Amino acid sequence: MNRFFIVVALVLTGSMSLASAQPVVVYSARNEQLIKPLFDQYTKETGVPVQFITGSEGPLLARLRAEGANTSADVLLTVDAGNLWQAANEGLLRPLQSPSLQASVPAHLRDPGNSWFGLSVRARTIVYNTARVKPTELSTYEDLAAPKWHGRLCLRTSKKVYNQSLVAMLIAEHGESATQAIVQGWVNNLAVPVFADDTKAIEAVAQGQCDVTLVNTYYFGRLLQKSPQLPVAIFWPNQNVAGRQTGVHVNVSGAGVTRHAKNPAGGQKLIEWLASGKAQSLFADSNLEYPVNPQVAPAPAVAAWGTFKHNPINVKEAGSRQVQSVQLMDRARYK
Ligand code: FE
Repeated sequence: MNRFFIVVALVLTGSMSLASAQPVVVYSARNEQLIKPLFDQYTKETGVPVQFITGSEGPLLARLRAEGANTSADVLLTVDAGNLWQAANEGLLRPLQSPSLQASVPAHLRDPGNSWFGLSVRARTIVYNTARVKPTELSTYEDLAAPKWHGRLCLRTSKKVYNQSLVAMLIAEHGESATQAIVQGWVNNLAVPVFADDTKAIEAVAQGQCDVTLVNTYYFGRLLQKSPQLPVAIFWPNQNVAGRQTGVHVNVSGAGVTRHAKNPAGGQKLIEWLASGKAQSLFADSNLEYPVNPQVAPAPAVAAWGTFKHNPINVKEAGSRQVQSVQLMDRARYK
């Protein structure tokens, strides 16, 4: 009799853990080095295995699109609200009912339709040469279009989604013609041709090829960890602008559950976990980004750059105005 109960209990426990151990499959534009420790931790805590493939944003989206209903992906994890918006707009993601995510992720950093949620925040801000610029000379993104910055500005190429999102958010804030004038002013102020990446733009500022640039802070953080003596510093623009809602341009890396997920509940649980507590620190700190969850403090190296006010406009505008943004930059001859 006893033995019978033990066998039944074992079979039940076995089948329950099998049921709860249905794997979650993630398509990730974030690299393995960043996500594997996180997923290992998730498996350790929950017993749920996470399978993933990594790739660049474009090819991952194309794969998801091509696979349609046959995809094995439960979760899409990618960078930039522009890419997340595009995935949602193409119907590749499904809306989630999640009080937990509503609580963990501030409203301007998630899809109003609940198809995707920011998981880390990247701030695109001003970096300046400390020997050539006083912080009191700096104020806003818009001011970098003024004649006083002629021959003093470096920019990364407009081909990068980060700048497309920045300009899209300026369109959301100012409208198209005022933004066109701002971007035209930036182009007129360029000291040298545009750079292929943020790090090269910061190095040019450090070398005195130009005095100011616009970059994501984690590139600044990585470069300064290698070369702490470089004469460059971060400035938080648009902090004290009267009469309109503005602030530092922020963007996100984030995730959503796919339309054709085989394990949507498992996918949702994983995203909820990624937006919470310790996972937030692991996720944000490893790339010197900011946690999206306001309850979680940034890494000390990141916190050292000071606090700042976000632009409160929803980051989905970076996606919905992307085409408009690219066309505007093209007209301004921003290469
Ligand atoms: Fe980046």
